[in-house]
Amino acid sequence: LPRDIFPNRPNSAGVDLADPLVLVPLMERLEKLEDVRFHAEPTFMSGAEGEIAPITKPHHLDVEVGTRRDALPFEVEEAITRADAIQPGWNALGGVRRALLLDAAADAFEAHTDEILSLCQREAGKTLVDAVLELREAVDFLRYYANEARRLFAAPLMLPGPTGEENRLSLAGRGVFATISPWNFPLAIFIGPPAAALAAGNTVVAKPAEQTPLIAALAVKLCHQAGIPEDVFQLLPGAGDVGEIITSDPRVAGVAFTGSTQTAQAINRSLAAREGPIATFIAETGGQNAMIVDSTALPEQVTRDVVASAFQSAGQRCSALRVLYIQDDVADGMLAMIRGAFEALTIGDPELLATEVGPVIDPDARAALERHVARRQKAGRSVIRRKLSRTLSDGCFVAPTLIEMDSILDLKRENFGPILHVVRYRAADLPQVVADINATGFGLTLGLHSRLEGTREYVERHARVGNFYVNRNQIGAVVESQPFGGEGMSGTGPKAGGPHYVARFATERVVCIDT
Ligand code: GLU
Repeated sequence: LPRDIFPNRPNSAGVDLADPLVLVPLMERLEKLEDVRFHAEPTFMSGAEGEIAPITKPHHLDVEVGTRRDALPFEVEEAITRADAIQPGWNALGGVRRALLLDAAADAFEAHTDEILSLCQREAGKTLVDAVLELREAVDFLRYYANEARRLFAAPLMLPGPTGEENRLSLAGRGVFATISPWNFPLAIFIGPPAAALAAGNTVVAKPAEQTPLIAALAVKLCHQAGIPEDVFQLLPGAGDVGEIITSDPRVAGVAFTGSTQTAQAINRSLAAREGPIATFIAETGGQNAMIVDSTALPEQVTRDVVASAFQSAGQRCSALRVLYIQDDVADGMLAMIRGAFEALTIGDPELLATEVGPVIDPDARAALERHVARRQKAGRSVIRRKLSRTLSDGCFVAPTLIEMDSILDLKRENFGPILHVVRYRAADLPQVVADINATGFGLTLGLHSRLEGTREYVERHARVGNFYVNRNQIGAVVESQPFGGEGMSGTGPKAGGPHYVARFATERVVCIDT
């Protein structure tokens, strides 16, 4: 196959929630699934009897969705042994056949739409809109990386041989890849890195977030049903201790991690301290994402995009807007509109169709956000909060909040929830605003609302961020169209859903044949 040919691959159409003929039967089917319990345990069944822990709804902490049994240390060891043993065979299968299996997994995900949506809502507290987006992104990752397997692995790249020799460059899997994923995209980011690693000829041991192992277990089961062998892609549920055992094993050739900057730094240190082969490390971490709004922006558009960027998914996206910079001449009018939209947000049970802002993931997340708000209140900042209905008291709800501040540099860490900070700036200070945003050390997303070409050019040239969005919201990067990922404290790259991603999971080999 020529290397530059992409087979036609439209992104997933998802589920049309605007069509009542689709929505009404879907809601009925989801209601029927309401009592179905799920279970997560290691793929390799050792027969060991570990502790069974309940998984409950973030929005009803007393309602169980299923149970999880974490991997024991000897099971991690055995999983890696099996993954290691089968890797040469998986690699030898070639890119085209691996692609067929990843495509089959994507089809299996779509065929199990109801169960996936139900779990996204019940286990992760997602609204139906977010659950549909999650499934679409997961399917897109599988199909996009399948195509990358076709593009990159079908045939070696022939290189110039100036003295008559034959030079070819080919890619191969590195070995066993470990993936460690977050709860905020319990399906899409659980499956994206493994799909890329598998596409590249690696085998995978995957540790999902301890809060959301059930969706992950379903995803792995569907991949196996689609024909990916069990030893090739294995689930290892557990908390950070399981992650540590996995990453400290020198047979793990690479780690793809998505989560907090601190955890990424800890994994990086432990990989550096390890004996044996030097591990590949791919990390996608947090952000301190800003949006700059100047006096030429369109207020209605700004309002819509600020609210989506800061409060959709209850602010639990690493792309989400944390600090809004508004030019002072228009700040009062613009903030009045944003506040109006903020006051109109429907907060509550994510399983109800009307809900726009659901819960945060767990009591620890809620407590950390509440501490942050309390500190700002104590410091005398203007803090506006939505009132929560008392019916929400048995769930992890955090009232959407607006906090006025002087600079993004007042924030020491990422606040992963529905909290938006607002800073007023003078037009002449734009360079300082951009410098301060860069000085956070994070570099994930940045939004700009401006009709001034010069301003756009200035920010584009000076901002050190992975994803810069102009006159739109700054969440919901689309596979292939907006490859996603940051720089600096926000991650190592390469960008998920982009043309350089899969190659990072592979090793390069050159063969030179002289005549
Ligand atoms: N890709 C997601 C987005 O663009 C964010 C991923 C994350 O939160 O980790 O909104």
